[in-house]
Amino acid sequence: MRRLRNTKIIATLGPASSSAATIEALHLAGADVFRLNFSHGTHKDHEERYNTIRELEAKVGRPIGILADLQGPKIRIGIFAKGPVELKNGSAFRLDLDKAPGDATRVCLPHPAVLESLEAGSILLLDDGKLKLTVTTAGADFADCLVTVGGKISDRKGVNIPNALVRMSPLTDKDRRDLDFALSLGVDWIALSFVQRPEDIAEVKKIVAGRASVMAKIEKPAAVETLDGIIDLADAIMVARGDLGVEMPIQEVPSIQKKIIARAREAGKPVVVATQMLESMISAPVPTRAEVTDVANAIYDGTDAVMLSAESAAGEYPLEAVAMMSDIAVVTEKDPMYRSIIDAKHGHLEATTADAISAAAIQVSRTIGAAAVVTYTTSGSTALRAARERGETSVLALRPALKTARTLALVWGLHCVHTKDAENFADMVNKACKISFAEGFARPGDRVVIMAGVPFGTPGSTNILRIAWVGEQ
Ligand code: PGA
Ligand code: MN
Repeated sequence: MRRLRNTKIIATLGPASSSAATIEALHLAGADVFRLNFSHGTHKDHEERYNTIRELEAKVGRPIGILADLQGPKIRIGIFAKGPVELKNGSAFRLDLDKAPGDATRVCLPHPAVLESLEAGSILLLDDGKLKLTVTTAGADFADCLVTVGGKISDRKGVNIPNALVRMSPLTDKDRRDLDFALSLGVDWIALSFVQRPEDIAEVKKIVAGRASVMAKIEKPAAVETLDGIIDLADAIMVARGDLGVEMPIQEVPSIQKKIIARAREAGKPVVVATQMLESMISAPVPTRAEVTDVANAIYDGTDAVMLSAESAAGEYPLEAVAMMSDIAVVTEKDPMYRSIIDAKHGHLEATTADAISAAAIQVSRTIGAAAVVTYTTSGSTALRAARERGETSVLALRPALKTARTLALVWGLHCVHTKDAENFADMVNKACKISFAEGFARPGDRVVIMAGVPFGTPGSTNILRIAWVGEQ
């Protein structure tokens, strides 16, 4: 089964999408990667979904990526004694470490490190930015605030502190337990929320120790400031627009999205655009024009993948949302304007054989109108560089280990096929033609451009470009 688009789709699983039949239908409709969101659900829920995906993968014979998204150090207030309270504009409100239930004058903020990092003038946003507090006096274990934007507030609502670098570990105790569990399942990607500094990624990578790839969710101003260092260390980046739009002035989200995508593409790291892409489809079978335009714009930016959250996890129309995203990608990628925008942002080539051969393969395939570029890859690094070219011709990546094939499912344009290693040069050419045909990329009489390395199976040895005719199969 080949996709008729290069942009990949990530669908979050949840109560609306947990049955084997729904997960299969989501995959057939276009989901290339599934996201297990550890902010919700039990380990048992995630394990069942994980097993269902792996059974589906065996059934359809295509590698499917699984992303475990860790909640991260999400800051929350405590609870109130008598239900929700109304905070009035201009009134005083205290946050402290006292676990006693709160009222209209105070509530617990059970994070000592957060209180320590506050100072007079710090701004706190409550409940996705609906309420705003300004700190007037900051103590070691309390903060007295002025309610600048009031409203109703209830138990355990989230708190965002845009302009403070909070010295919290990037992983909470819950994250550590979730991370261990996700790794024991065998997920391909770990996403880390509320990354602030490159060191946060380093800390997680140390624990993960190569068992999965690590994605940095950019949703804090501090992360935007240290973006290049984070991109350097992370295996992929997510433009996490939900929290980003609370932590930063919301009108800056589009320009930050474009900046993150451009930097990630230049570095050759996969990038994902997430949150509210088809939000209205949570409760309607068709999206708004603005949402369709938003998905298309992320594709014009050259993102590797677009993501669905509540639309597929908890909405009424998960299948329609995935199918809609897929249709938008197919149509957008056919627009001649798409090609000119993508080409205009082509990255600089590095002085490596992988880049030289990748760029040449794409160029040759364009010149002769080849049906596919076929690359042999072991670690996936050559396939990533080939995808970075964003060429017009589909890239088939052969021979990756199953784990690598699953990981690469989220990368722009890559179609991975797990095969045995080629025995010799003739076998390499023969396999490339056979598989291009079998996977629906080439017909007899078509030509394919093959990138390979001698000696066979040696990582980093890509040094050959070969044009081959696909014969009668
Ligand atoms: P979340 O992350 O859905 O886990 O909050 C994505 C975002 O903030 O956009
Ligand atoms: Mn978030």
